[in-house]
Amino acid sequence: MVTAMPAAGILRPTGGPCKGKTPKVTEIIRHLSPNQGPRRDGLRPSLVVIHYTAMQNAADALERLCDPAAEVSAHYLISGQGDIILMVEEDQRAWHAGQGEWAGQDDVNSRSIGIELDNMGTHPFSEPQMFALERLLRGILDRWDIQPEGVIGHSDMAPGRKTDPGPRFDWARLSKQGLAGAGKARDMPKPPCPETFTEHAKNAGFTADVPFETLLAATRLRFAPWRSGPLCAQDMTFCHAPASKWK
Ligand SMILES: [Zn+2]
Repeated sequence: MVTAMPAAGILRPTGGPCKGKTPKVTEIIRHLSPNQGPRRDGLRPSLVVIHYTAMQNAADALERLCDPAAEVSAHYLISGQGDIILMVEEDQRAWHAGQGEWAGQDDVNSRSIGIELDNMGTHPFSEPQMFALERLLRGILDRWDIQPEGVIGHSDMAPGRKTDPGPRFDWARLSKQGLAGAGKARDMPKPPCPETFTEHAKNAGFTADVPFETLLAATRLRFAPWRSGPLCAQDMTFCHAPASKWK
C-alpha cells in the first residue's frame, strides 16, 4: 500500500541561528519535474540523501533537474538564498541517487527523499540555505518518521563515484540539532586495523562494495574531512549508530 504524503504545507521559521534577525517566511515553490515515477515495491522513504548541484546557479540546476533528456531529478532544490523548490512529491520516486547502496539496501531512490543544494562544491553553504534545509529536514523526518541516522550524503551511499555534499558541508551542525547522525568517537583510539575499520563502517551503513581506500575516503568525507593519509588510530574511533536503527 502506498501511503499518501502528508501535506508539505508552508514552512514557517520559528527562530534559529539568525540572531537578531527574523528569518524570512519560507514558502515551498512548486516546479514539478517529469523525471519521476512511483516508488517500487510499495517502499516509503526511510532515508534522506543530501547533494550539491555542482552547477553555476539554482536556475541552471532546476532546468537540468526538469529536463527529460537529463533523466535526473530530486524532490527538492534549495537555492543559495534559501528558496525551497519542490520538484517531485515526497511519496514519488525521484532520480537522484543512482548506483550504490546504504546499510545493505539498494534502489536508494525508492527508499529516500533527495535534496539538492545549490552549490558548486567549492564554496561554503550559505546561512539562508542551511536554515531552509534544517526547516525542511525537520518536516521530512517528522512526516515519514525517519531517524536522524537516516540523513546521509550522496557520497555515503556511492563511495568513490560521488563526493557530494563534500567536505564543506556542515554535518556537525545538523547532528547537533538531531537532523543527522553524529560521528563522534566513543572509544579511545586503537591501533589501525583495516579489517576492524571496515567492519565498523559496514555496521554504520557504508556497505557499498568498494576498495578499502575508497571506503576510508568516504567515511572521512562524512566524519573527518580534514584527515588524510593512511588509516590512523583516530579513524578507528569512527562511530555511528548501528544501521539497524534506521532499517
Ligand atoms: Zn549527488
